[in-house]
Amino acid sequence: GTIADTLTRGVENVTDSLSGTFGEPVIRLGVTGLSRAGKTVFITSLVANLLDRGRMPQLAAESEGRILAAFLQPQPDDTMPRFDYETHLGALTARTPHWPDSTRAISQLRLSLKVRPTGLLAGLSGARRVHVDIVDYPGEWLLDLGLMDKSYAEWSAETLARMQERPGATEFLAMARNEDAARPFEETRAKALAASFTSALHRARDAGYSDCTPGRFLLPGEKEGSAMLTFAPLPDTGEGRRRSVFSRGAGSLADEMARRFEAYKREIVRPFFRDHFSRIDRQVVLVDALGAIHAGPAAVEDLRRTMAEILGAFRPGSNAFLRQVLMGKRVEKILFAATKADHLHHTQHARLTGVMQALTREAADRAQFSGAETQAMSIAALRATVEETITHQGQALECVRGTLLNDDGTRGRQAAFHPGELPEDPGHLLRPARDGAKAWLDGDYSIMRFAPAPLTLKPGEGPPHIRLDRAAQVLIGDRL
Ligand code: GDP
Repeated sequence: GTIADTLTRGVENVTDSLSGTFGEPVIRLGVTGLSRAGKTVFITSLVANLLDRGRMPQLAAESEGRILAAFLQPQPDDTMPRFDYETHLGALTARTPHWPDSTRAISQLRLSLKVRPTGLLAGLSGARRVHVDIVDYPGEWLLDLGLMDKSYAEWSAETLARMQERPGATEFLAMARNEDAARPFEETRAKALAASFTSALHRARDAGYSDCTPGRFLLPGEKEGSAMLTFAPLPDTGEGRRRSVFSRGAGSLADEMARRFEAYKREIVRPFFRDHFSRIDRQVVLVDALGAIHAGPAAVEDLRRTMAEILGAFRPGSNAFLRQVLMGKRVEKILFAATKADHLHHTQHARLTGVMQALTREAADRAQFSGAETQAMSIAALRATVEETITHQGQALECVRGTLLNDDGTRGRQAAFHPGELPEDPGHLLRPARDGAKAWLDGDYSIMRFAPAPLTLKPGEGPPHIRLDRAAQVLIGDRL
């Protein structure tokens, strides 16, 4: 809080905001999470609630009345797609609101805030502008970090082993087993293998598995159809012989697959980490923990492993490639947020947060996030339910009530649900082997597909979100 601090900050601002007007701070806020975790809804609701204020009391700058204006601006990065805020908001505020299209690739949005500083600074200067550059990207892309230090042969062996345990991979595994990778390369075979591999990944994802790398196979973005995305793991039929099939020389199927795997790392994974990931200051990782818990113990175990891998990306020390692209830069704060908490009565929220803490703690303990501040939370970016206590056979049952979404996207009936309870000790969930696998949230959870509630609730009509304001405070509050 001294003048010297102020000056130092000023200098920092000049160096870190290449794109802002002189001296205007820029916060690059990364928003990630696996598919369907809730990134699009989170960003849309966050921006809507910052633009149209009065519903974010836990954001200190807002409750102190220091946010004088908020507006969207053209983003400084001309080459990056813009987050399609208006279309997503349109979906949520339509006469019959519907959920927006989910994140498929990286995009960005610049939100600028005019804030009146606190304390000492308030006397020194008038209102200043702070730019929040929100960067939305699939969590699947982070998992690709694990590919960087693997050879094609290592990756193949691991991936095939992992697929053995998963549903939906039988067809691909049979196909791969029948391949002779030492035979001359043919594009049609490569294509058929890649297509079958990709559909196996989709099926695993649909069955609730989290780690379905390579990330661009599920979310190809603009690289769809390129050779870099036309490869698949192959069994090393040469095993036991003197030489592995993967070193049979140029022109073989294995050789070309390995070449494409290397191209994927070089042309897709590396640029993402170097050009985008490395510039993020604050990060929120959204997790559909409830979805995984409902899908069962195998999906939870998979989520636990996947979280550990995602956390690896925030631990540059662990990875030579990362050290090289980050060049000493690091994320300052990471928030791990369980989304869709409106599926549970608030009396269960602490348990959900406990699950998030446990999911990240193990990794965090080992992690040394090199000083990055981490926190776990349960949120709903857009609350689709209200709470209700129902008496059932003489017992009070804590329920949530919402409007169901029909399969054709129309709004169905209103109903109250009891999704089941979470265990008090998250260990029961995360180490099912120890306690005997048990299904949690097996109550009404599977039918709880809610239609979005109108985003236009006024203050007093009940909060349109759950703790979105606290998430915002953690992520950007200290810089406003
Ligand atoms: P993305 O793939 O990470 O961009 O995920 P989306 O933001 O598209 O969210 C996926 C789906 O999760 C949405 O279509 C909604 O059905 C659901 N969802 C996301 N956020 C919320 C929330 O706050 N409350 C509820 N009830 N559902 C949500």
